[in-house]
Amino acid sequence: MNKSITVAKTAGFCFGVDRAVKIAYETAKEQTDKKIYTLGPLIHNPSVVADLEKRGIGVINSPSEAKEGDTVIIRSHGVGRAVFDELKDRGVNIVDATCPFVTKIHKLVAERTAKGELVLIAGDREHPEVQGILGWTESSAVCDNSGEGDAEVFPNCVELVKLLRKNCEKSKKGVAILSQTTYNIVMWNQCIRAISEFSTEDVTVYDTICTATEKRQSEAESLSRKCDTMLIIGGRNSSNTKKLYDICSANSRCFLIEDSRELKDIDFSTAESVGISAGASTPAYIIEEVKKDMTEILSNEEEFNFEEAMEQSLKKIYTGKRVSGVVTAVNSTEIIVDIGTKHTGYIPLSELSADPNAKPEDVVKVGDTIDVIVTKLNDVEGIAMLSKKQVDAQKGYDDVKKAYESGEVLTGTVTNIIKGGVIVTTSGMRVFVPASQTGVRAADSMDTLLKKEVRFKIIELNEQRKRAVGSIRKVTAEERAQRGEAFFETAEVGQTVMGEVKSITDYGVFVDVGGVDGLVRRMDLTWARIKHPSDVVSVGDRIEVTIKDIDKETGKVSLVYKKTEDNPWVIFEKNYSVGQTVEVKIVSITAFGAFAQIIPGIDGLIHISQIANQRVANVADFLSVGDVVTAKITDCDIANKRVSLSIRALLPEGEYKPAKETAPAEDEAEEAETEE
Ligand code: SF4
Repeated sequence: MNKSITVAKTAGFCFGVDRAVKIAYETAKEQTDKKIYTLGPLIHNPSVVADLEKRGIGVINSPSEAKEGDTVIIRSHGVGRAVFDELKDRGVNIVDATCPFVTKIHKLVAERTAKGELVLIAGDREHPEVQGILGWTESSAVCDNSGEGDAEVFPNCVELVKLLRKNCEKSKKGVAILSQTTYNIVMWNQCIRAISEFSTEDVTVYDTICTATEKRQSEAESLSRKCDTMLIIGGRNSSNTKKLYDICSANSRCFLIEDSRELKDIDFSTAESVGISAGASTPAYIIEEVKKDMTEILSNEEEFNFEEAMEQSLKKIYTGKRVSGVVTAVNSTEIIVDIGTKHTGYIPLSELSADPNAKPEDVVKVGDTIDVIVTKLNDVEGIAMLSKKQVDAQKGYDDVKKAYESGEVLTGTVTNIIKGGVIVTTSGMRVFVPASQTGVRAADSMDTLLKKEVRFKIIELNEQRKRAVGSIRKVTAEERAQRGEAFFETAEVGQTVMGEVKSITDYGVFVDVGGVDGLVRRMDLTWARIKHPSDVVSVGDRIEVTIKDIDKETGKVSLVYKKTEDNPWVIFEKNYSVGQTVEVKIVSITAFGAFAQIIPGIDGLIHISQIANQRVANVADFLSVGDVVTAKITDCDIANKRVSLSIRALLPEGEYKPAKETAPAEDEAEEAETEE
């Protein structure tokens, strides 16, 4: 035990008290047939008084309470002459246990006052010892306001000087100064110094302070300077005990107790060294009890503190130790956490969450109990740097490991786009997903994934480095495969389904129709003439398609996007007929004529011979692409999707000059007509 307990050698019963107690017990033994009383409590200690009571020694407070034949023990404080006389008059058997040192004062006072001297007594006027001393003056008269009397009591040097000045002017025969036996030695010395201005012939000083008191006070004072805590044991109405308390209080934390039962009310958690002293009325066994109990208390306290210190130190010294704490503040730069130690815990924002985009207030709030890891300690400044992110990562790692072993699909948020892939955060754990496993095409930017929630599987785990590699694509591929199986089970040719355009090529468009990418060939994309499939749809478009063909063995699906009701030949047949005049737009020029759009998807041929009512050698001399001209539908072959137009048929009658040089034969021109 590092804590110490020191009991003052002079603690407890003084000679006079010890003598009085012994006398009382002897009297109880010898006079068993008489009523025995002490005049006032024998000593200022309730437990001793109670014990004497058990042995048949009661307490009376006035001589008048005693009856003839009773035995009255005069306690160590002593009493005045008049008290003795009264007791004798009442036929009381007196046992005088007055301390010899006190008796000596009684005699001194009686002598000095008999010589006409004024006796000035340093002490407490109300104290029984002082009362007893005053009872031995010649006239038994104490000074009153008129200055008459044999004796006076003064509490301190200031009052002493006043008394001396007042009384020296009077024609007294001298002044004797003495003190209560338990008067404070320091104050007594002050008094001695204060009277130096007065004539030594007139003033006589008698040092009547009991050396027992002096030694006790001196030792207690010295002990109180060495100990952080002092226990003064004694009755609360004991003058010398209170003086000990006052002296020691100036130097240390001081407690006045009557016995060991009061120890439980005192907090000794900070006590390292305890000193014990006791008033003159305190029996040795009470001091011993206090010492014993105090030893136990300090021992327990030390044990408790040790455990507590261990607990604290576990939190302190193990950087990397996981501890619980309560969030006490959340601000824009850090989180403050009470981790139950003397340290102030700080979580920098960078250590709060694995998600760098997370707002602190979205992660924790004041009052939350959270687990953190101590990352750095500064015992001198009482600062503990903490990380919640690492705790989350530990938990996240456990989850990730389980998922890796079970093949479970995890959900996380893409928190970073890095070279070669993305970082997905799940339960505080950062998982690397290579670009090839993101599901994003090489040509596209992975930025589209940032802050998005994704589902992924762990495909690689490094337990040593606690790192994991994930794959978003694996999940989507597996899910797609499942959807694909479901598609082939239910899909039928002619069925209309919704799909998403996944990619566009020169020859057509791939559409995801639910786990399966079907192909819409260019010819099935639109009825209109187009330069490229991207003229019709874009990647990501949701379109309605019709299943044209299914090959379950190869997994190939052909789709049609163009709608039957949009078929221009149907529209043409419904709205146009041979002989009808129409406004058409020249869309291309050939050597044998020009093609003109009647409606989108239907182009008719204006043969070179039908451009003018004169010979046309070069079509371009008469028509240009983009020209809008009026022509007559001269022929219509719906089955072969051919329409013939003629400008000439609408021209006035005139000489017809056929082309001579470049006009191709009719057959050749007809073959060149397009279907669409
Ligand atoms: Fe006697 Fe001194 Fe004890 Fe008083 S303190 S009773 S004078 S021994």
